[in-house]
Amino acid sequence: MRVFCSTLLHECNSFSPLPTTMDDFQQLIPVDQAEQGNEREYADRHDLVLRTLCKSAGHDVIDGIHLDATPSAPISKKTYHAIRELLIERLRAAGSIDMVLLFLHGAQMAEGYDDCEGDIISRVRAIVGPEVPIGVLLDLHCNISSAMTDNADLIVACKEYPHVDFHESGILLENLMARTVSKQLRPAIAFAPVPMLGFFHTTREPMRGFVERIRSLEGRHGILSISLTHGCPVSDWANNHAGVLVVSDGDEEQADTVAAELAQEFFEMRVEIAAPSFPVRVALDRAESGNSFPAVVADVADNPGGGSPGDSTHLLAALIDRGTERAAIASIWDPIAFEHICRAGTGGRIPLRLGGKVSQLSGAPVDCTATILSIRDDIRQVTFGALENIGPTAAISIGGVDVIVARERFQVTSPDVFTGHGIDVSSKRLLVVKSAHHFIHEFSKISGNIVHASAPGFIGNDFTLYPYRHVPRPVWPLDETPFTRDGAEWS
Ligand SMILES: [Zn+2]
Repeated sequence: MRVFCSTLLHECNSFSPLPTTMDDFQQLIPVDQAEQGNEREYADRHDLVLRTLCKSAGHDVIDGIHLDATPSAPISKKTYHAIRELLIERLRAAGSIDMVLLFLHGAQMAEGYDDCEGDIISRVRAIVGPEVPIGVLLDLHCNISSAMTDNADLIVACKEYPHVDFHESGILLENLMARTVSKQLRPAIAFAPVPMLGFFHTTREPMRGFVERIRSLEGRHGILSISLTHGCPVSDWANNHAGVLVVSDGDEEQADTVAAELAQEFFEMRVEIAAPSFPVRVALDRAESGNSFPAVVADVADNPGGGSPGDSTHLLAALIDRGTERAAIASIWDPIAFEHICRAGTGGRIPLRLGGKVSQLSGAPVDCTATILSIRDDIRQVTFGALENIGPTAAISIGGVDVIVARERFQVTSPDVFTGHGIDVSSKRLLVVKSAHHFIHEFSKISGNIVHASAPGFIGNDFTLYPYRHVPRPVWPLDETPFTRDGAEWS
């Protein structure tokens, strides 16, 4: 089977101060490497999962683009046009194909484009015509539009937050698409919006049980797939909300009914499933009064994986103020401080002005005297089961607090960020990580005492603080909105 396969991943944070240009996109598999067949080292990347699955299934893969960028502000128009044209050019040159598989984020925005995924899928449809099936894999932090559901044959989002199931979701999509190509299936998509904004951890009840039940409904009575779309609450546009997306085998009415019922259920759980977080001092007190160590405190709002800079000092300053001993924090994004550290070298002791540079929400820089413990550029952390290079980092010591200083922005997802520098995490009382929830998969293996903190930042859990201008209203928690199954009170 000839499959046109493409990857374009960027989560937009409308409030992020960080611009997004072509330099921010990483080419996941260089075209020349793909042509030479040097692909094994890329095979375990979560962001190349569709391509890898197609290769495993023995399909003839025609590569589109494979690009990924760390979340930030909407993409510049120039960059978006350049990326889109490259994708279209490769699709036009692909010749006859049996299906299109796209791995997209679902919350990508660009200057002049609120709905990049809808725009891309529509343009792909216009080129391949109505007969070639288009299948789309999404991050569950996606905002679904009619341009997406009208132009794709199948849409499947991952089900887990943290997103440890991209592989499983990709297998489901590839399998359903192959059966669609061979006319065994006739997918019908229904989407029921849920008027709420939030982050919903699938590691906690009642979300855990809800996801398991939805998974058990798939493959029965003609239901092919069910995706709970959590929405991307920091994308400020008209389709920003949660939802339920159901694909049935040829029965639109059934898909509509199941989606509407599950949407009602999803909404009714909103208070219980909203991600918890505590003010900085409360979070640190809770962590330190726990009975197992190291405790892990997440700096949710300064998560680079959600479009925040990763240079805020609120947690670091609190640790220093409290005189905390045996603590470590990862990471503070500060290329200038990193440069000074490299000049001084391992073992050096230097005055340093650290972090707090990108915006007011980053807090004040921390002025300190730092001892340099280690400098490395080969540390890899585990992200969704695969190893990811975090770029050049240094470990420094400021009193009782070890700090990882980073040259590049990255979300912390595994303890390797500390242990790679020789920091013994089991000897620490407190570990602070810049991540909202993806860290929990690996850090729960070393800690049973995990607390989410709410410092200032660009992706916190209090949605009443965002200066929204376009989000549809009423929407919970901005409004305590009524919600009826037919959507009459919310459209
Ligand atoms: Zn996500």
